[in-house]
Order: sequence, then structure tokens, then C-alpha cells
Amino acid sequence: MPLTTWWCELAWLGGEAPASGVLVEADHGVITAAQTNVLRAPADATTLRGLTIPGLANVHSHAFHRALRGRAQPSDGTFWTWRTGMYAVAERLDPERLLALARATYGEMALAGVTCVGEFHYVHHGPGGTPYAEPNVMGEALATAASEAGIRLTLLDTCYLSSGFGEPLLGVQQRFGDADAEAWAARASSLQPAAHLRVGAAVHSVRAVDAEAAELVAAWASAREAPLHVHVSEQVAENAGCEQAYGLTPTGWLNDRGALGPRTTAVHATHLTEADLDLLAASSTGVGLCPTTERDLADGIGAFGRLHASGVPLSVGSDSQAVIDLIEEARLVEQHERLRTGTRGHWSTAELLTIATANGHAALGWPDAGRIAVGARADLVTIDLNSVRTSGVADTDALTTVVSAATATDVRDVVVGGRTIVRDGQHVLLGDVARLLRDAVRAVTG
Ligand SMILES: [Zn+2]
Repeated sequence: MPLTTWWCELAWLGGEAPASGVLVEADHGVITAAQTNVLRAPADATTLRGLTIPGLANVHSHAFHRALRGRAQPSDGTFWTWRTGMYAVAERLDPERLLALARATYGEMALAGVTCVGEFHYVHHGPGGTPYAEPNVMGEALATAASEAGIRLTLLDTCYLSSGFGEPLLGVQQRFGDADAEAWAARASSLQPAAHLRVGAAVHSVRAVDAEAAELVAAWASAREAPLHVHVSEQVAENAGCEQAYGLTPTGWLNDRGALGPRTTAVHATHLTEADLDLLAASSTGVGLCPTTERDLADGIGAFGRLHASGVPLSVGSDSQAVIDLIEEARLVEQHERLRTGTRGHWSTAELLTIATANGHAALGWPDAGRIAVGARADLVTIDLNSVRTSGVADTDALTTVVSAATATDVRDVVVGGRTIVRDGQHVLLGDVARLLRDAVRAVTG
């Protein structure tokens, strides 16, 4: 990729206020200069009007859940009734349909400013759990989808062996399972990374694996220095089941399995004890919050502030795709804590943006992304400051305005690794993403 230059009207380089007139230069997709107070755009620079921030990282995605939007938000029910609807879609997936649905979903993410996604991937096998002739054809469909949407992917291949604390997989769940943990490791080991693709591991939850399997997955990730993600304490029922089966909380059990640590992200971590908080903090384990999903599924409000106070690195994800808006996810970290505590001001605006950018990229194994700085990947997301949501504020307040009121709709331009993938609100690689979504969703919902 040749030398590229952008002139940003305003850009967030860290701190609580944006810098003006920022000239960003990149060579082969890596930032080589970020000069401030350049009054006019040089002739060879692409002008980015609005506020430019680093690429947003979506740490927790199940791409196919996008097909549930509008179908799985009934006025009653719980996480468990939602799951029944999700299983009906999972049943209809095949490699071609998954590719189409993931490509469109990642296209929606790109339009929302997401430059990297962590896909928590568990629909590995064919109907009835029969392995495909090419055992990773579903994971490869996800990698192709990300490539075609122009974003980077961390494929978190998920070990899912039990329907609950030793019970066998039932019905469509058989598509999620490998014969055992060794078979999972053999299959995951054959996934090949690429320039836009990293391979990590996931344990679905403490319900889905036994001690030996959890230890094996943790050792697999550790040997590769790869990210390890796991759903933790999303549901009160999961905590109760874990206590009954093992006499431990999910966090305590994972700690005993060697599954916590700086490359581990506990997803949700909504229902934690004080001892769980201490274990996460002491092990430098991160937590991936998914507030739009957690509110939609009535999961509860996690101890966001106590995690923050303990020094636990936080990141955010769109999970069920009820909404794909990482600005909204970051905003809700603060807003949910306000509702929980009755007080304001738990995070600064810059801290909330760091959660959605640098922290998320680090949690997905891309520590050189998520900042506009020399040496970082040239991921740039420009947000309109003249929309009906953002217009009328002073430059010095642009950051606060974006984090408190902007939405994914306000994202105008997106550059990933130096390459423009969204220009003036249009996906330049995929074209009409809404049509792609419509067709892909219909194919799996009838
Ligand atoms: Zn999830």
C-alpha cells in the first residue's frame, strides 16, 4: 500500500479535547506521522471533516444473531426464551448462508466505525453435529466475510461440549460441539491466520466444558499467546448451576482451571461476588461488557464501576446484534453505572473512548491498534459534527458531544489499515449493505 495522507479537521489523539488540523501520514497501513495545527489540507491529502477517532473494536460478536433483530425482542420472556429463537436461526445456517449473513453484518459494523471484530464462533458443524468435509468451513466463511467487509477479525473458536454441567448437547447444540477437547484443539489449530485475521480461543461458558477441557483450552491459548474469551456470569442461573456442580462461582472455577490472565476476557461478568472482582483484578483479566444486549435480555446491570475501580481493563461488544453501535455501548458503560449508583461522572469521556478503541483492540490481540499515534495501525473513523444529533457544539466539546449523543449513523468515513472502506456514509466495498442484510436475513428466517 502506498504512502497515504489524511487531513483531519479535528482528531482525538488522547486527552479530553480533540486537536485541530491533524495531518496523519501512513506507510503500508501504519501511521508514520500525526502533526497538529496544520491549518489547511495539503493538496495530496484526503480531507476528513468532523471528529476523527481511532477505529472502534467490537470485542464480542455472534454475527448470525443479526437475523434475530426485531424477531427476538418480545415483550416478555427471558434470556432463555430468547435462546430458543436463536437456536432456530442456528439450525438454518450453512457455510453459504453464514458467509452472506456475516458479510452483511460486518458491513453494518464497518458503517458504524468498527475496524476489528471478535467473533465468538461456535456453529462449527453441519446438521446433527456431522463434521463438514472441510472441518473449518464455517470459520473460514467468517474470515472471508470480514475480508470482504474490509475489517479485521479475531476468530475466537469456541469449545462447547455440553448443554450444561456434563449433560449432552441436544438438538441444534450438536452443531456446536467437537467430539472432545482434543478434537476442538486439533480443529482450531488448523485455522490459518492472515493479514486481517487472528485466531484465538473461547470457552463457551462454565456450563459447556468440564475441568479438563477448560484447562486444555487455556493451555492452547497460552502456548500461542492468543486471546481467550469466555461468557462469565451473564445469568444468575449460571452462577447457581456452577455453585451446585462445583461449589464455586464461575470466576472462581475458571481461576482454578488456569483460565484467567491478561489475555483473557470475561464477557458480561454481570453477576460477580467481591471475591470474583478480586480474582479478575489480581489476574489482570479483562471484562468485555455488552450493555445493549444485557439491557435487551434483561440480564441485569453489572458492577461496571467496581471493575473500573479495581483496575480491570474494560472493553465493549455488540454480542446479540440487537444494536450495532459501539459509541452507544461506550456511553452505556457510564450511563448504567449512573442508574446503578445514583451518581454521575464515573469515567471521563476519553476513558470511555479508550474502552471502545485501544482496550478493545488489545483484548482481541491487536495491541498496535486503537490509537492515532506513530507506530499504530492507520484506523480512522470520522464522525459528522453537523448532524441533527451533533450540530451546534464548540470544537472543544466535540468529544463529549460524540460520546453523549452521536450514533453509528453519524459515522461518515472509515479507514482500516490505511484503506478507505467507508466514504461519506457508504460502504465502498459492499455497496448497499441494507439490501445485503435483507437478503441474508431472509435466507435464514424464511
Ligand atoms: Zn455472547
